Amino acid sequence: MICPVCNAEIQETPFKEWLFNDYSVSRYKCQECGYSFNVYSKEGKESYTIPKRKI
Ligand SMILES: [Zn+2]
Repeated sequence: MICPVCNAEIQETPFKEWLFNDYSVSRYKCQECGYSFNVYSKEGKESYTIPKRKI
């Protein structure tokens, strides 16, 4: 998994996983930049979202 924010490689397994409609969602946290993001996978396709940070 590559961090979509800083492109660092993330070795860790997702710390949270759940189902959303037909997607399986995994949440990762990047150790480099500190962002967490969700990866949606469905039928072999993946996309991601980056939740906005609360300031
Ligand atoms: Zn990162």
